[in-house]
Amino acid sequence: MSGTTELLIDGKRVPAADGRTFTVVDPAHGTPIAEVSLAGAADVDQAVAAARAAFTAPEWARMRAADRGRLLHRIAEGIRREGEKLARLESLDVGKPLRQARADVEAAARYFEFYAGIADKLGGSTIPLGPGLLDYTVREPIGVSGQIIPFNYPMQNTARGSAPALAAGCTVVLKPSPEAPLTPLEIGRIALDCGLPPGVLNVVPGDGGTGAALAGHPGIDQVTFTGSVATGIKVAQAAAVNVVPSVVELGGKSPVVVFADADFDLAVAAVAGSAFGNAGQTCSAGTRLLVQRGAEEFVDKLVAHAASLRIGPGAADLDVGPLVSARQRDRVAGYLDLAREEGATVRAGGRKPADPDLADGYYIEPTVLTGLTNQARVAREEIFGPVVTVIEFDDAEEALAIANDSPYGLASYVWTRDIDRALRMASGIRAGQVYVNATGVGTGVELPFGGYKHSGWGREKGLEALASYTQTKNVCIGFGNRP
Ligand code: NAD
Repeated sequence: MSGTTELLIDGKRVPAADGRTFTVVDPAHGTPIAEVSLAGAADVDQAVAAARAAFTAPEWARMRAADRGRLLHRIAEGIRREGEKLARLESLDVGKPLRQARADVEAAARYFEFYAGIADKLGGSTIPLGPGLLDYTVREPIGVSGQIIPFNYPMQNTARGSAPALAAGCTVVLKPSPEAPLTPLEIGRIALDCGLPPGVLNVVPGDGGTGAALAGHPGIDQVTFTGSVATGIKVAQAAAVNVVPSVVELGGKSPVVVFADADFDLAVAAVAGSAFGNAGQTCSAGTRLLVQRGAEEFVDKLVAHAASLRIGPGAADLDVGPLVSARQRDRVAGYLDLAREEGATVRAGGRKPADPDLADGYYIEPTVLTGLTNQARVAREEIFGPVVTVIEFDDAEEALAIANDSPYGLASYVWTRDIDRALRMASGIRAGQVYVNATGVGTGVELPFGGYKHSGWGREKGLEALASYTQTKNVCIGFGNRP
């Protein structure tokens, strides 16, 4: 146990006002690793007040944009400098293999670096109205951003939301998931160490009640939420009551369309990385595998690959770690029971590992299900575990229809050597991202990311994220003799 880890409000570590804490568990062994302060509504009030005050305090509000950019660069360097420690903490807290956690460190640093470069380029425009009138626009920071993040990529999600907000001149109150609060607190501390003024980035770990207090707080100006559809709806409703805009990044059931002419070896490695990496707890994971009839060799190769993956604690740095919690493991196990009831053939995995050394951890074997159609619940609902469902199709038209027959529309993947077919799929798929013969799961800091349909609205990542953290002011000035 590493002692109590306190909230970060106004640049100070503080306990929760009512003294409550919660226990963080190592999912590889089911043992406690930290006791963390649980922010209640009073703490959220304090954090929002600190962020409001910091938003207009001269040391932040009057900081030149170029200096904000330099500060963000320093935070990126700070994250890299402490990268190994952060990776080990993330791996311990979430369960992911160390090399995946190291990739998350790099992505987190890249977010700060990427947005550091734009801080001094957020200019407006002039609008030609004719003689005697000067009209120009200014992009102003929107204010205090309330950010609520899930458990699966805590370090990346902290950076993904806070870096563009800070680049734009906003201040942030960030609520991590109770299942993975440790690295967000560390990034908040690193930002302070790098010279971020107190109150600009506040971190308040807590549960759903904490999130609800933040999403509905009248003192915030914008909400960025990442998590499940059910919670996203509540958050968007809470924000709407205060007439506050929200970005909601929600779940997915992303299709991977594999044509018979694809490079199967490349596709197998990419599919396995996407669907089994982070134990399948990735919103953009390609979990609906649409395989052309005649490409059965691809499925055989994937099954062999899945069966060869080594399972163990994150610190052992094997291929697949545990799921984040017993709750998540039981949810996935429930879907595996459902798959059997729905008539699936379990070609790989399908259960908890038999290895007695893994008995205390929250593991599920990488699983490949065949023999189902797109109507099966396991093919339609987000399982959020290392499980893919294979669905067969005959031609591109059918593949497109199946790909789009989903309530979700987050990411999609197409594997073919036929350029015409690739472009038709890219144009026809209703999802926020399409990858052709490539995969960009979890990184792709530069690429706009967000959902169609129930996968949400708004865009994070890339330059498009800045739209959430700025608002346009139009200034119209008359002068001289006007016609
Ligand atoms: P979740 O919806 O249960 O929780 C997300 C966050 O919301 C947590 O911090 C939680 O404490 C908080 N919360 C819970 N109830 C709340 C309420 N009423 N008001 C405000 N906040 C509340 O999601 P999870 O289980 O942590 O994460 C898994 C989900 O996240 C999956 O559906 C996954 O697809 C999604 N996800 C999406 C993206 C994306 O970018 N689209 C990225 C990662 C994860």
